[in-house]
Amino acid sequence: MSEDSDTTQARSRLLKPARPSEDQVRQLNDLSRRDYFPALARLSLFPENRSRKAYTVVRDIYLRFADSWWSKLMDIVELPLSKEERSKLVAEIKDEQKRMKEVELWLKPPEAPLSLDQALKFIKAAPSVAWQKTVMSRVGKRSRPGQPASKRRLALHALDIKCAYPHTSLSEATNRLCPCGRQKHLPQCRDQLRQQIIKLVKFLREHGLISSGSISRLGSGNRLNNSTTPVKYSPNSLHPCNLLF
Ligand SMILES: [Zn+2]
Repeated sequence: MSEDSDTTQARSRLLKPARPSEDQVRQLNDLSRRDYFPALARLSLFPENRSRKAYTVVRDIYLRFADSWWSKLMDIVELPLSKEERSKLVAEIKDEQKRMKEVELWLKPPEAPLSLDQALKFIKAAPSVAWQKTVMSRVGKRSRPGQPASKRRLALHALDIKCAYPHTSLSEATNRLCPCGRQKHLPQCRDQLRQQIIKLVKFLREHGLISSGSISRLGSGNRLNNSTTPVKYSPNSLHPCNLLF
């Protein structure tokens, strides 16, 4: 089988997420305030897409932070807290929000992590000043004209392609994903993508989702490493072979 048809196959295995049905959207409105954002995040902000394996593990990381972040926000809004308890929670919320933003950069362009409309809807649901500020700080800021879009999510797509079809080369992934607009991509295009992939692999390793060996192997070139060292993975981890370009 030629490499070209390999790549075509890889593409066809990566599907778009299903659009939420009207029923699912209607059901969102029946949820309690506490359940609302976690459900919205799963249904609409970062919908499930099992065809994208790398996306799925990064999405899981995001949802863990988002659930905890939201639950603490709700505690501030709904529970009678002492001043001390409140400031402890606020510090935790800020920290989790920072982590969520970092994870979001891998998942989607930085322009719109949360739209203004969505934010206003949340605020209407809970009229607390502290909460309003927190929600508003998550509203996506438009990037300046000419500012390059984050390349991080391209790295995630590259790993999705690699998981869907392991024989994809870095050149093929670059041809498919690089947004430079050239007909023939430059070595720099590949290098940029590789750098982002290395960062993503490091991020996944920090979250215990891949083995430590994958990074040095990924960074050392395009060749498959024949290491036979056994590695333990968590059930949701990505097999390191998937990450070799
Ligand atoms: Zn390019």
